Amino acid sequence: MPLYEYVCQDCGTRFEAFRSMKDADEAIRCKNCLSLHTRRALSRVAARSADGSFSTGSGCSGCSGGSCSSCHH
Ligand SMILES: [Zn+2]
Repeated sequence: MPLYEYVCQDCGTRFEAFRSMKDADEAIRCKNCLSLHTRRALSRVAARSADGSFSTGSGCSGCSGGSCSSCHH
């Protein structure tokens, strides 16, 4: 089952969930505040291959400017 990444529009929390492809765009509760105002974020892999490069600014699509394990900065 694929792993999807979601972002909460109320509290900004990013979280990941395993869901079947047919459920990927269904509403999912935020794991932090239980809001249903979430949207599916592009996976890091998809985001990388889509534009072919990392942004040179701080952060990557998987973090919000701090350090994270996927971009190592
Ligand atoms: Zn939330």
